[in-house]
Amino acid sequence: MSEERLRIAIQKSGRLAEESVELLKNCGLTISRGRDTLYGRVQEMPIDVLLVRDDDIPAFVADGACDIGVVGENVAEEDRLAGARETPAELVARLGFSRCRLMLAAPKEWAWNGPASLEGKRIATSYPGLTRRFLAAAKVKATPVMMKGSVEVAPRLKIADAVCDIVSTGATLDANGLRPVATVFESEAVLIRNPASFGPAKQTIFEAFMKRVEGVMASREAKYVMMNAPRSAVPAITEVLPGAEAPTVLELAGGGDRVAIHAVCRESVFWTTLEKLKRLGASAILVLPIEKMMA
Ligand code: ATP
Ligand code: ZN
Repeated sequence: MSEERLRIAIQKSGRLAEESVELLKNCGLTISRGRDTLYGRVQEMPIDVLLVRDDDIPAFVADGACDIGVVGENVAEEDRLAGARETPAELVARLGFSRCRLMLAAPKEWAWNGPASLEGKRIATSYPGLTRRFLAAAKVKATPVMMKGSVEVAPRLKIADAVCDIVSTGATLDANGLRPVATVFESEAVLIRNPASFGPAKQTIFEAFMKRVEGVMASREAKYVMMNAPRSAVPAITEVLPGAEAPTVLELAGGGDRVAIHAVCRESVFWTTLEKLKRLGASAILVLPIEKMMA
């Protein structure tokens, strides 16, 4: 009997590709790619990686061609809104990379008075579902015009009056005489899964994989903080440390009033945090990155 393997779809090349591979790498998984450019095999766990165009990922995952996938939430949500599938892929985790915004952009010469300015207009977009949902919420009647690429040229070509597109710097919009006017959707990379239940072998692999993903996500912001401080300041210092549980308090050699405090902070540690610690009497403050973490 052939061994069961979990199949994960990631983008082959583009704005999600590199960080998707990086996520797997941070999970301790290396992809070995042979001559086949579509398939990769993970050595460390029974996982196969399928390298595809991002647009295909929701369908592959929903239909069970793949078990899980990494894709932009904009693409996953648009697929869900299109309603083409009985059971669309399920969102399991937000991954914190490839953050971007789907925005409405209008010709610069328009006097923008909010979404009402779009009444009766045509809006070129690759995201008709998300655009329609935004318009409905704003109680505006306008028509999304589906375009696969080069959406920003539509107004110049008189195909549409405005556009709804992913914006990063706004330079492309600017070059086409457009300016962003409203945010329709804020997106980041997400992990999606096939909605059907996995068999027990696959479920076990899935759970082990998710444990690692959660560990990677948790350790991304987390820091190990160490300092020396007066014993009496321990409660106040615990208050200041962001997202820390009970810190470890250790005796310093030679005894005395000062102790060493060690804590795992689950949220970002800023310079202002260090300044507060200093004011509470802390010295020799060290903030160290955490490579791996498991609850
Ligand atoms: P493919 O060839 O796989 O179809 P594509 O050209 O459709 O790729 P990319 O431009 O690589 O797609 O974008 C993939 C995803 O990355 C988008 O759906 C979005 O979620 C996210 N993304 C898009 N633009 C940016 C950006 N400027 N910064 C960060 N993430 C972005
Ligand atoms: Zn694409």
